[in-house]
Amino acid sequence: MARVVVVGGGFAGLASAARLAKLGHAVSLLEAEPTLGGALRPVEQDNFSWDASASTTLLPAVVRDLFRKSGRPLERELELEPVEIVREHRFRDRTSVRLPGGSRAAQVAAFDELTDKRGRPQGQAWVDHVGTYGAVWEALRQHVFEARTTAPPVEVTALLRSREMLHRRLRADFSDERLRLVAGHPFEAAGHVLRDVPAWAGLTAYLEQRFGAWRPVGGMSALATALADRMATRKVEVHTSTPAVDLVLRNGRAVGVRTAEGEVDADAVVVATDPRNLPALKVHAARATPAIPPFVVHLGLEGAVPDLPAELVLHGDPTLVVRPGGRAPEGGHAWTVHVRGRIFEDILVALARHKVDVRDRVVSRVDLSPRDLVERWHGSPLGVVWRGRSTARLGPTTPIAGVYAAGAHAVGGDGLPFVGLSAALVAQAIGPA
Ligand SMILES: Cc1cc2nc3c(=O)[nH]c(=O)nc-3n(C[C@H](O)[C@H](O)[C@H](O)COP(=O)(O)OP(=O)(O)OC[C@H]3O[C@@H](n4cnc5c(N)ncnc54)[C@H](O)[C@@H]3O)c2cc1C
Repeated sequence: MARVVVVGGGFAGLASAARLAKLGHAVSLLEAEPTLGGALRPVEQDNFSWDASASTTLLPAVVRDLFRKSGRPLERELELEPVEIVREHRFRDRTSVRLPGGSRAAQVAAFDELTDKRGRPQGQAWVDHVGTYGAVWEALRQHVFEARTTAPPVEVTALLRSREMLHRRLRADFSDERLRLVAGHPFEAAGHVLRDVPAWAGLTAYLEQRFGAWRPVGGMSALATALADRMATRKVEVHTSTPAVDLVLRNGRAVGVRTAEGEVDADAVVVATDPRNLPALKVHAARATPAIPPFVVHLGLEGAVPDLPAELVLHGDPTLVVRPGGRAPEGGHAWTVHVRGRIFEDILVALARHKVDVRDRVVSRVDLSPRDLVERWHGSPLGVVWRGRSTARLGPTTPIAGVYAAGAHAVGGDGLPFVGLSAALVAQAIGPA
């Protein structure tokens, strides 16, 4: 049995700890904050509770696999429900499209409602674009995301080395700007610039079409709670309010983690935070810049409000993303608005301009700037910003022997499913006790 110290108690740290404990290791987890969950921890005020970051996840199989491989199956602890309309886009020209998940045919029908300047329906153009990513996903899943093969086939290496960026792919595939906005949205929402995102990363659209989007009943905090409970089941030693200050190295190998209270010995360390938080790793992550979170406004509303899908994207400058959801007192509604772009008026006024007027419904409100968010999370849960095909990321292994990296900063895919896969890769790399 090896002693493993996991730094960070967000989704990546919890998933890594649960898997490694099940593999027979003696696992300790260090979390800087008083509670576990990282970006899954909700924001709470006036009896409202909002998802602080993620509200839905793609690839529910990743979450199911994590629960199965670390103890009781997910179904016994948490219900995941499918989201029928993944998001609705409303464009500047007042047209709109509602993007269904989990069905190619439903996406054809939805995009056929959009016609280009010559009156041609856009369904086929959309599914042709998305369809190109089926083979890309299969190849990368097998050799990069679910397992790291030492000598991947040439087509995988060629994909990863390709100079083609997403912005160029979208220009080639779509003459209608609105389809480019829909396909580029997940990346722009996560703080990336499409010119710097490799074309292969556009596979997110395929995952949405093929597997749909899902949300835990009770919000993301329910997922955090189920994982925190699993720490107890798997006898992971959890130290909250205990930030790791640095790695302890001997002869170039990690032998522990330093905290304000002293050193915790380790045979292996899993860093599930921004690696730049630990000086010994910082030098190896110096070229990686974090993706900046949006400006976030949580709204507690009372009375009648418009009925919205899981996500409403109001394109413009700024672009507003409204996510209804979270817990509200009787008769209330919890909404979260993510804002990217120029903010020159109050967000409620900007929403009203888009005909989503809830100005006289607000009974509670929390505004969080990108800086507030990064301080709250001790880093960005959006990971490393794309800077082209050679964007540097650590993980699952790192240049320091005995140190592994999981989480948003360790993976080139978007959001919880990829973070979950990164934890599985770390568990594979360390192996059973
Ligand atoms: C606005 C926003 C919206 C999002 N929406 C979605 C979505 O809809 N779907 C989706 O799948 N994903 C979404 N994401 C992404 C998702 O939230 C992240 O992929 C995921 O939460 C990252 O998990 P993590 O464990 O890597 O990082 P985090 O959750 O950030 O966890 C890192 C943890 O490490 C701790 N820590 C940091 N430094 C130290 C230290 N020195 N010592 C000890 N502990 C430390 C932190 O306190 C924190 O608990 C969104 C993100 C944002 C910001």
